[in-house]
Amino acid sequence: MTRLNFEARETLRAEGFTTKAWAQLNGYAGAAEWRGDECGCTDDRCIGYHHDENEECGCLPALIEEQRRQERATARGCAVWAAHLNAEQVGTPEDRAHADELAAAWITEFHPGAVSYSLTESPRGITYRNQWNNTTWLIFDAATQLASVEALEG
Ligand SMILES: [Zn+2]
Ligand SMILES: [Zn+2]
Repeated sequence: MTRLNFEARETLRAEGFTTKAWAQLNGYAGAAEWRGDECGCTDDRCIGYHHDENEECGCLPALIEEQRRQERATARGCAVWAAHLNAEQVGTPEDRAHADELAAAWITEFHPGAVSYSLTESPRGITYRNQWNNTTWLIFDAATQLASVEALEG
C-alpha cells in the first residue's frame, strides 16, 4: 500500500477530492488501501516510468479531468433516462421528441464514436454500438443511475 505524496494531496484538495474519495473512485476502500503511485496516478509504477521523481505528474490532472467527464456523463445520462421514462409513462409525441433530443445530444458529447444507440433495446438502460467493434455496450445503467461501459451479451 502506498501513501499519496504532498503534491498529490494538494492537487486533489484543490480539485475538491479528499484522498479517501480519490481512493474510492478508483476502487479502493479508502486512502489507507491506495495501491496506485504516490503521485496519485492509478498506475503503481508512475514515478520513474511516466515521469521522473522530480517532475510533476501529468497523469493525475488527466485522471481528474476524466473523472469530471464521467460525473458529467452520469448527471446528463440521468436526465436523459428520466426524460425517457417520462415519455414512456405519460408519453405525448412532445415528451418522446424531448427525450430523443436529450439522448442525441448526450451521445454526441460523450460517445462520438457511436453508429447507433437505443433507449429501448435493453431494459437495463441506454445502449449503443460504435464504429470500432461489434459489441452492444450499456452506457447508462438504469439500476445504478451511472454512466457505464459494459458489454452486453448478444
Ligand atoms: Zn502515471
Ligand atoms: Zn505520476
